[in-house]
Amino acid sequence: MTHMIKALPEKVRGRVITRSDPDYDEARAVHNAMHDRKPRAVIQCVDSADVMAVVASGRDAGLDVAIRGGGHSVPGFGTVDDGLVIDLSKMKSVRIDSIKKVAQVGGGATWGDVDHATYPFGLAAPGGIISTTGVGGLTLGGGIGYLARSHGLSIDNLLSADVVLADGRQVTASDYQNEDLFWALRGGGGNFGVVTSFEFRLHEVGDVVGGPLFYEFDDATAILQCYREFIAVAPEQLGCLFGWQIAPPLPFIPEDRHGDLFCVMVVCWNGPHEEAERVLKPLRDVAEVKAEQVGVMPFPALQSAFDGLVPKGMQHYWKADFITELTDAAIAAHVEHGKKTPHLSSSMHLHPINGAARRVGADETAFGHRDKNFAPVIVGIWHDPADNEANTKWVMDYYAAVHPHSGSEGGYVNFMSADDDRRAPANYGANYERLAAVKAAYDPDNFFHINQNIAPASGR
Ligand SMILES: Cc1cc2nc3c(=O)[nH]c(=O)nc-3n(C[C@H](O)[C@H](O)[C@H](O)COP(=O)(O)OP(=O)(O)OC[C@H]3O[C@@H](n4cnc5c(N)ncnc54)[C@H](O)[C@@H]3O)c2cc1C
Repeated sequence: MTHMIKALPEKVRGRVITRSDPDYDEARAVHNAMHDRKPRAVIQCVDSADVMAVVASGRDAGLDVAIRGGGHSVPGFGTVDDGLVIDLSKMKSVRIDSIKKVAQVGGGATWGDVDHATYPFGLAAPGGIISTTGVGGLTLGGGIGYLARSHGLSIDNLLSADVVLADGRQVTASDYQNEDLFWALRGGGGNFGVVTSFEFRLHEVGDVVGGPLFYEFDDATAILQCYREFIAVAPEQLGCLFGWQIAPPLPFIPEDRHGDLFCVMVVCWNGPHEEAERVLKPLRDVAEVKAEQVGVMPFPALQSAFDGLVPKGMQHYWKADFITELTDAAIAAHVEHGKKTPHLSSSMHLHPINGAARRVGADETAFGHRDKNFAPVIVGIWHDPADNEANTKWVMDYYAAVHPHSGSEGGYVNFMSADDDRRAPANYGANYERLAAVKAAYDPDNFFHINQNIAPASGR
């Protein structure tokens, strides 16, 4: 084993960082500080050849291999004890074809890298709402962000992917090559191989009218009821999520309200700027807006506006569902538990996934829950490990209260925690069986298992 690790630097061009390196602790750390794992080596791959070499070496040595894109996985799937980490963070190039409106994106890029590269062309790909999140994990699980209502999920804009398979070969998956693999990649997570490059369709997105509206927590029931009706019919160029937010000490919030709990709606209007106020009027009429920072801004500015709330190294525990209807009973449960939001980085976010995201057929991609209107997630995020028990309990109690109102067992794979591993079949619904068959075809030994695992179908 030691011999294999020693031989790795001869096979790859990227750095092989082991326990004896001074930056080992930095190299092994992932976003969620709850996962303090000690791999044998972190290999900072620089190209597909590096990835192919590490896959082959890991397989031959019988080691667990974790794939790390942006490292944001809440269950810490970007690291592993005693195994190898394929760290893609050096593979972050983004190439734009502004005529075809297509981006070629390295497997370790973040959404900040993509937004930075596409904005000067007046273009964007639908990603997530925090710029430090990896394109890799976010896309392979689905990809929900402000552009989901207008242009669909990230996977709905994926045109092709270069994938290093468990046998060490790299193939391209698209509508025309390895179609079954391409289908499975769009929602099936890191189960099928290491994506070294993503090709995305881009859309015209430049400056948007965006930002947060803060309301009194006491208005929560009325606001959630309004939001549910509003977002069902609002123009699709509007992205708008609801959440709880303890007020950070920011200048646009009155100083005497810093630390108070509010309801927040974060809007992203990607239509004509002069129409924004008319579109947002119902959100202004429902209750008094106590503080806001809505205005014209570059799309990447909105995409990174909340990064400060979620720096690397905090404790994370999340729970999630999909829901079709936000019932009054569900709203009552949200309000009861939202009231106890423990930290200003903790919240419940209600992401709308209607509009363009809902028009894709349930069997067109592996992301099966296309009849749902919302992807709610209870995000427990805090600094101090001494609060782990209490804050994890807040998420669990909250989830126990709202889950019975969800009307579905499944949730969004990218919002799951480590103890959600048994939910995979429900998370994919009717698509699970086909996913297991594709897994058996491309990774029969379940080599790629540090993920929301899809077990290979037996009998092949
Ligand atoms: C602060 C924060 C904000 C978030 N916001 C959003 C949001 O707005 N919308 C949303 O949809 N999700 C969001 N998420 C969830 C996010 O989609 C998942 O955590 C996702 O797994 C992160 O991807 P990553 O590449 O950063 O993570 P990693 O930990 O690097 O990887 C996560 C999983 O994907 C696999 N993987 C990563 N890259 C590749 C690759 N290139 N090839 C093959 N497999 C790969 C890994 O093996 C692992 O199983 C957020 C998460 C956090 C922590």
